[in-house]
Amino acid sequence: EDIFIADFLERSVRRFPDNTALIFQGFKVSYRELDTMVRSMVACLRGMGVKKGDSVAILLPNVIPCVVAYYAIMRLGAVAVMNNPLYTDRELTHQFNDSGAVLLITLDLLADRMVSLREHTGIKKIIYTSIGDYLPFPKNILFPLVGKRKKMAASVAPAPDVYRWKEVLATHAPSDFREELHLDDVAMYQYTGGTTGVSKGVMLTHRNLSYQVQQLTSWFCGLTHGEELFIGGLPLFHIFGLTTALNFPVTMGAGIVLVPKPQGAQLLEAIRKFRPTFSPLVPTMYISMMHDPAIEKTDLSCIKGLFSGSAPLPVEVIREFETRSGAVIAEGFGMTESSPVTHINPFDGGPRKAGSIGIPISNTDARIVDLADGVTEVPVGQVGELVVRGPQVMKGYLNNPEATAEALAEEWLHTGDIARMDEDGYFSIVDRKKDMIISGGYNVYPRDIDEVLYEHPKVQDACSIGVPHAHRGEAVKAFVVLKEGETATEQELIDFCSGKLAKYKWPVAVEFRDELPRSTVGKILRKDLRQEVMGQTP
Ligand code: ATP
Ligand code: MG
Repeated sequence: EDIFIADFLERSVRRFPDNTALIFQGFKVSYRELDTMVRSMVACLRGMGVKKGDSVAILLPNVIPCVVAYYAIMRLGAVAVMNNPLYTDRELTHQFNDSGAVLLITLDLLADRMVSLREHTGIKKIIYTSIGDYLPFPKNILFPLVGKRKKMAASVAPAPDVYRWKEVLATHAPSDFREELHLDDVAMYQYTGGTTGVSKGVMLTHRNLSYQVQQLTSWFCGLTHGEELFIGGLPLFHIFGLTTALNFPVTMGAGIVLVPKPQGAQLLEAIRKFRPTFSPLVPTMYISMMHDPAIEKTDLSCIKGLFSGSAPLPVEVIREFETRSGAVIAEGFGMTESSPVTHINPFDGGPRKAGSIGIPISNTDARIVDLADGVTEVPVGQVGELVVRGPQVMKGYLNNPEATAEALAEEWLHTGDIARMDEDGYFSIVDRKKDMIISGGYNVYPRDIDEVLYEHPKVQDACSIGVPHAHRGEAVKAFVVLKEGETATEQELIDFCSGKLAKYKWPVAVEFRDELPRSTVGKILRKDLRQEVMGQTP
């Protein structure tokens, strides 16, 4: 259906005006109230001169204003640029300038810093919000970025063109303004995860975002409109969270429990308090919940289904979590460039295959092509690069025609991921092309070794990389985090692998760590471990 992403919110407002749309630390916002706030924000941003095509940057954790600002930008036909609040000045300056942001919406705590940063960017106006603006119970709060805080609002030094969210919202009457748009107009410049290098701005259109939610609603057709409650723990500044924890539930008239600090204890607390029914989560969240002692006192039976993506979900973790909760976990696959979802395991009906990313979502074509030429399809069961095609695939990278031409060669999106398809049409990700190790002439996929290590009862986290080796060119080295209180020797883990892997895949070394480097969305950063080993600073 050819409709805009902003239309889905309007439909839910009409169908379920009194349903809870957002819950933030116990504070509830109905669909009608959300709509009123969005319309006030539209009036405010218009008053500040924001017009069609202007970039508006959002730098917020998962708080109510993040959602309000996003939908206001969609109605104005401006371009939303979501940014990670944990990014450094350097990373933010790059994203603000690359996207041409003219206005920034942020948090009081970051406001003074952003006022200084503004001088190096095209940002003219700043609006800041306080966590305390939406809190009825100030004393319960664990502040998402800096730990416990006593004060509910940080003081911000007065500066020209810096405004307080609460005030601008209160002084602007709700507006019904909707910009005339074309579905192929850009809705967002969404930056990639930065897992393999500098993150790239992805141009996602209104068509991309709208078709993606329609693909998801038809896939998860077992969910009931107006009756579900989601955990909004995935960061909304990342496309996986924005799509599956915001646009998708809003389309269904579902509620969303915003969890700005989604660690095991906070997620379990949200489950106990609010009884969510469905949720997208990333692998680190399943792992951190399972290792939190509070899981013993948390009844997980309210959850019917869970969705996992963005990084491999170890098969062991799926088994354990499904057994504990009774919930169905559907692993899927996606990337920023495809809004993001392209594959999922069947949720109701059709077998799920653990360790696989499932089958292409509706209206999506996928192929496995030759790693060298990028075009020729390889036979069933053989590895190659995964390429995809569908209405959710980006228009291109911002300010980067070469990267666009490379990624969208021959009308297919080249994922950079090595995968295979089985005889039933299920796809499995083998590894990223950039992570492949060549040892003694064999291709080794570090994930194979990681999967085996995760099977070891003492292992909590594992990540393997290629290290220089005198005879084989490269050999495998594994970095391992043991479960709390466990001890193990390097040889014990190498022996464990040798029983389960061909000899050229055995790690030649295992190094124990307290934790592994992760990106701020929880992906293990293999490139940082590689750089450490190569003696460079990451
Ligand atoms: P960058 O492109 O900046 O290096 P990134 O690729 O991590 O960062 P995203 O677009 O957030 O940025 O992530 C997409 C990638 O995540 C995919 O290309 C794939 O490597 C990985 N991925 C997503 N889902 C899965 C999954 N279920 N299993 C394995 N890998 C996955
Ligand atoms: Mg990528």
